[in-house]
Amino acid sequence: MMRKFLMSKDVMSTTSSGSLLTLSNCTQVSSDHIPFDNRKTISQLLTSYEETRCCIYATICALKIEAHWWYLGCPGCAKKVNPYLNPETEELEMDKLSCDGCETIVCSTKTRYQVHCKVLDHTGTTSFVMFDREVIQLIHKSAYELLEQQVQFNSENEFPRELLALEGREFVFIVNKPETSKNYTPSTFKVVNVTDDHAKILRFHSDDANEVKMRKTLNYHVLK
Ligand SMILES: [Zn+2]
Repeated sequence: MMRKFLMSKDVMSTTSSGSLLTLSNCTQVSSDHIPFDNRKTISQLLTSYEETRCCIYATICALKIEAHWWYLGCPGCAKKVNPYLNPETEELEMDKLSCDGCETIVCSTKTRYQVHCKVLDHTGTTSFVMFDREVIQLIHKSAYELLEQQVQFNSENEFPRELLALEGREFVFIVNKPETSKNYTPSTFKVVNVTDDHAKILRFHSDDANEVKMRKTLNYHVLK
């Protein structure tokens, strides 16, 4: 009941097509800003300490279906909203939600993606989490639309097939890596952009091939 009620207040229901258009427009611009000069393998990502934004070419090997793929976000800052507990009456107020990000009470929400996945490259595996912009870019559907569709087909407790279809696909991910220490390594990295643009993926391949060629030449000279 609670969720149906919240869903009906989703801001996407009124702005759906408009915001999607904006999102797909900015996708093309942002995918050009891929930091190709800062490429890392998964093993490098896991073993470096510095804070960085880097590029990783990897395959989504599995989606974490045990984790929720959507959440109710604040329309202002996109942080997850919580039920509002009135401090005076100490009761939950059903028509209000609180946002820790804005430190305010919000009356509408936006259903957003939060998709956890396991990724793999030739050096290892790790976990990534993708949010609204990245997932919409990949499946061309908002979280609200997908959730509504699941409810319509009575499969709201199942993991959406559209998301499962991402398994086995290769992408160039741009990942934010926080500063880490020997005692602290994050288990999940936040994806800030993603592309399956063939030209960009090919660039990764050709760069890798050049590197191998260069290494071979170097070895050859050393051996000589
Ligand atoms: Zn907020």
